[in-house]
Amino acid sequence: MIRITTVLLFLTALITCSPTRAPIAPPSPITSPSASPPTPTLEEPTAAPPTPASLAGTSAKAVITPSGVVAPVLRAQADGALVGTPCGNSAVVSTGIPLDGAMVVLDPGHGGSEVGAVGPNGLTEKELNLSVTGFAESFLRGNGANVVLTRTTDYRITLEARGKIVKALEPKAFVSIHHNAEADGPLPRPGTETYYQTVGSSSAESKRLAGLVYEEVVRTLSQYQGISWVGDTDAGAKYRKSSSGNDYYGIIRHTQGTPAALAELAFISNPPEADLLSRLDVQQAEGEAVARGISRFLTTEDPGSGFTEPYPRQAPAGGGGGAAGCTDPPL
Ligand SMILES: [Zn+2]
Repeated sequence: MIRITTVLLFLTALITCSPTRAPIAPPSPITSPSASPPTPTLEEPTAAPPTPASLAGTSAKAVITPSGVVAPVLRAQADGALVGTPCGNSAVVSTGIPLDGAMVVLDPGHGGSEVGAVGPNGLTEKELNLSVTGFAESFLRGNGANVVLTRTTDYRITLEARGKIVKALEPKAFVSIHHNAEADGPLPRPGTETYYQTVGSSSAESKRLAGLVYEEVVRTLSQYQGISWVGDTDAGAKYRKSSSGNDYYGIIRHTQGTPAALAELAFISNPPEADLLSRLDVQQAEGEAVARGISRFLTTEDPGSGFTEPYPRQAPAGGGGGAAGCTDPPL
């Protein structure tokens, strides 16, 4: 109950402060955070044991291995837990921190040999995504939320393996954190994009989550003056479907059933944005903006904003995420 009280106090303060933020010009009007009291939908987080324990016969849904890798439990065994590895293999782990669930799962995009986009200043998307995700994690944890990351350091992990962590932990919200490249051209505002699910039982809530993360990220980035932003002409909170009608992006597809958003926060390919993103204070601001969007999703009925209708795209998205050439990190 102490934790719930803490969260509510924090969110009350958050909402009270919100109307003072600078206005921006998004594709559709950004709504102010609700002035009504936050809806107490948070349950008390499941606290993880602070120290590794024997996993023999464990009933945990996932574990944090001694090397810090998060892995879903496939089956309990007498000698430990049979877990799914980042590359989609299985292995037995004898000791670790058992996880019974999570309120929020955050997903730093790319990792290991999959560096993602690279800025003109040499900043790699994989390192930037991990840093921003860490700030979002700290912010949410500081306010009582039980948060688990799909990737904790610099290693490869497939999109399917990320999805299996989410399925195992059944969070109330999932956000995959990325930075974008190859914009259509200049924009008068940040070219932030958030993608949501269109298929599955969580699609309506996925859209609301994407709209709230969009709202908070654009509001935060817009406070940096004099940046020549770039983006796509349909930038906003949106979706992308494959020719079969399913959700296009693997991380969105593999998490259907859980409210999920894929966030492309800013363009690492754009020199002024890459320089901005190389600053630790900006990485923190981005991460905390994502966290505020998640907090509002969990505790209010705010609908989010910035929704746009995407134009048809033919070009396949790069980015990898498959198992080919994937080498598991030490567990
Ligand atoms: Zn990416």
